[in-house]
Amino acid sequence: MNIGIVGTGYVGLVTGVCLSAIGHTVYCVDNDREKIKKLRRGIATIYEPGLQELMTKQTKKKKLFFCETIKEAAKCSQVIFIAVGTPSKKNGDADLTYVENVARQIALSMDSYKLIVEKSTVPAETGKRIEHTIKLNLPKKFNGRNRSLSFDVASNPEFLREGSAIADFMNPDRVVIGVESKKAEELLKEIYKPLKTRVIVTNITSAEIIKHASNSFLATKISFANALSQICDRVGADILKVTEGMGYDKRIGPSFLNAGIGFGGSCFPKDVDAFIRLSEKSGYEFNLLKAVRTTNEEQKAAFIRLIEDKLWIIKGKTIGVLGLAFKPNTDDMRNAPSVDIIERLQAEGAKIKAYDPQAMENAKKVFKGMTFCNDMYGAAKGSDCLLVLTEWDEFRKVDFKKLRGVMRQPVVFDGRNLYKNDNLVELGFEYFGIGRGKV
Ligand code: NAD
Repeated sequence: MNIGIVGTGYVGLVTGVCLSAIGHTVYCVDNDREKIKKLRRGIATIYEPGLQELMTKQTKKKKLFFCETIKEAAKCSQVIFIAVGTPSKKNGDADLTYVENVARQIALSMDSYKLIVEKSTVPAETGKRIEHTIKLNLPKKFNGRNRSLSFDVASNPEFLREGSAIADFMNPDRVVIGVESKKAEELLKEIYKPLKTRVIVTNITSAEIIKHASNSFLATKISFANALSQICDRVGADILKVTEGMGYDKRIGPSFLNAGIGFGGSCFPKDVDAFIRLSEKSGYEFNLLKAVRTTNEEQKAAFIRLIEDKLWIIKGKTIGVLGLAFKPNTDDMRNAPSVDIIERLQAEGAKIKAYDPQAMENAKKVFKGMTFCNDMYGAAKGSDCLLVLTEWDEFRKVDFKKLRGVMRQPVVFDGRNLYKNDNLVELGFEYFGIGRGKV
């Protein structure tokens, strides 16, 4: 099938590359000219394991193209996915400006039947608004009795995770499609047929809610584990043993029960906010989700309090940081917990030296007055303490003896419990994890 993808960010580019890899011909479009130029030169604009190689392969096969305008992509495609950003407004609502813009441009480019699929995460009823926008902006030749038959709108939320996006796309737990017509259902089922996966068919609004509900539930699990970690620290229990004991219960499961410095990234915080707002507007106060958000903020504050308590004086101290990205295997810095934590410590007068395997280029756009180092030991050199803020695999392989040798004070605050099994105390460090007992 010929498919257009509007937006070549973390979701759009991965979706485009993967749909082409499973047999479709894909036309990716972005209004960021620089991105398209780079992609046309064969360079992946984001870091995602395996993406560069697959992208190169598919472009060489002439199954993947990059376009500057929606018109170009729409001309070649029967199905068009919208994968643009839906950031938070100040009040927590999802800002759908980009989605509306794209819907209008698709309408203006339409010359035959199109299926327009929302892949971006959007609040319930966005599908209806997209449909309305398209109807209002259709070229004049579509006026008349066939007007409403010239297109369908569908919802196909994305569940991939940055850092394992290709594997997630290729082996999904399920594909959700929200449709209002048989034709839309058949087209989407055809697209995903090569994945041989379970397809859940609903109406558009239910599909939209499934995405918000899934992300909110996962965020709830994380906040639950983080709240438990606070209790563990106070009563002398070990969060790792507690969540292990819980996770073996099939009704609970072990995933998303890792206590740490709180969730971040471009999805969970904004999707939780948007779901709270959507509930409010529908007349329901989602107090449970509000508590999830508060617990998340509190977790970062508790980590800073721990550092303040154990380090005593922050002003003038040199703090080494391992990991800046919001999670490992990505270069994405959006809403990374590292930002709040580092900015707070800088405000108190700390000097920060940091290293991240992939996110430094993006981090340079976020942080001011910070020293970026070439490796872990560079970040640790001369530091009064070391913070682990992202659990990159590379950090697991650290030589602790060497690390201790370069640090001014051997103190580690492990915000991800990465060194949980390494017994750093025996190696001569003061070690503070999250929820590991009395601190
Ligand atoms: P992103 O910011 O990385 O990418 C969005 C892209 O859309 C950008 O390249 C931007 O230039 C482009 N764009 C904006 N307006 C455009 C226009 N008018 N025409 C063409 N291109 C335009 O965002 P993302 O992380 O890929 O997220 C996209 C959507 O997918 C969001 O709604 C997000 O919530 C959802 N989502 C994200 C993830 C994730 O892990 N990042 C996972 C599932 C769902």
